Amino acid sequence: MEQHIHRHKTRCVMIGDIAVGGHAPVVVQSMTNTDTADAEATAQQVFALWQAGSEMVRITVNSPEAAAQVGAIRRKLDAMGCFVPLIGDFHYNGHKLLAQYPECAEALAKYRINPGNVGKGAKRDEQFAAMIEAAIQYNKPVRIGVNWGSLDQAKMARMMDENAQRAQPLSAEALMREALIQSALESAQQAEAIGLPGDRIIISCKVSDVQDLITVYRELARRCDYPLHLGLTEAGMGSKGIVASTAALSVLMQEGIGDTIRISLTPEPGESRTREVIVAQEILQTMGIRSFTPLVTACPGCGRTTSTFFQELAQKIQRYLREQMPAWRNEYPGVETMNVAVMGCVVNGPGESKLANIGISLPGTGEVPVAPVFVDGEKTVTLKGDAIAEEFQAIVENYVKTHYSAGGALRREHKVIPLKAVG
Ligand code: SF4
Repeated sequence: MEQHIHRHKTRCVMIGDIAVGGHAPVVVQSMTNTDTADAEATAQQVFALWQAGSEMVRITVNSPEAAAQVGAIRRKLDAMGCFVPLIGDFHYNGHKLLAQYPECAEALAKYRINPGNVGKGAKRDEQFAAMIEAAIQYNKPVRIGVNWGSLDQAKMARMMDENAQRAQPLSAEALMREALIQSALESAQQAEAIGLPGDRIIISCKVSDVQDLITVYRELARRCDYPLHLGLTEAGMGSKGIVASTAALSVLMQEGIGDTIRISLTPEPGESRTREVIVAQEILQTMGIRSFTPLVTACPGCGRTTSTFFQELAQKIQRYLREQMPAWRNEYPGVETMNVAVMGCVVNGPGESKLANIGISLPGTGEVPVAPVFVDGEKTVTLKGDAIAEEFQAIVENYVKTHYSAGGALRREHKVIPLKAVG
């Protein structure tokens, strides 16, 4: 279900062959946490992020050893059939690395420049210009990526002095937000003055507070038409990181603000880096902005469900659907809009199952131990016994093959699934 949200009008910037801004869909991106100097580990993680659905991947380019490996990372990915655009994240020494490692400058599809980490004093403008000139020379776009944790301190000090002279000074928070915005917009203007075309500039101003982020991006959208990279920086771990990111991004995206998003989750020990991609996709999909993977609607369960069987089935089906997507994406176009319901009992089970493309209503406490399956709103079979999970998965697989292959697409019935809490 695609929602018609009136998007804030921005220019379109090409990152490799991915369009950001203009009429392009909101793009999902992510960032590696491997040592870029380890080309094999970095290529493997970029590949995993891309397989999960990341449409661009950022890697840090923090040292000569890292810059020296960027070309090798690109070649490894190309050899794996992974042509995802790589973005280089530069701080402090980007001007030197881009000059000294031309293969790195060429292999990257975009340079991220943090105006607060380009250099101090007189060197700041010179080093910023060197990076912009590299972007012009190699025909690359840039992201002017301001972050409140590395705000240009000289600029902040100047603004504080000016603020103190005002009849009605801004609060410290408002001043910080204004400094972030000005740092991004002035750096973008500076880049254009050096000769970088305006349609090769993306802007971001990341902060870690939800309300600050909303205020800053509303103001950025009002003041410029550069595409906006959206993300809550340092969102945190687990549910806190997901909730904070979702809260901030959904308010802004509902207002049509944001052309590309990244969810800055801190992975829990042992957790896959791909979680941030899945969360970004799920925010966009549950808001009805884009579809990526068939989603499972499941009830929360209650006292009517005495076993964890239905939770396990919902989890198993969602995992199965996600794992199939790298292959299904090309083979079964449209499958990403499919909706599967796994429900715990007859109270809401059949009703919710009928609304999905495929639904199963498992038996609750005291009910006859059978599980009716609904396909396109009609009850088809009733499953029972120990192999319910396997049989239901086979029904889902068969549905995908018959409804989303080239011929099957003609027979497909488009369901409009209301977004709502169930149970
Ligand atoms: S459908 Fe509702 S009533 Fe039935 S098990 Fe799920 S949460 Fe409980």
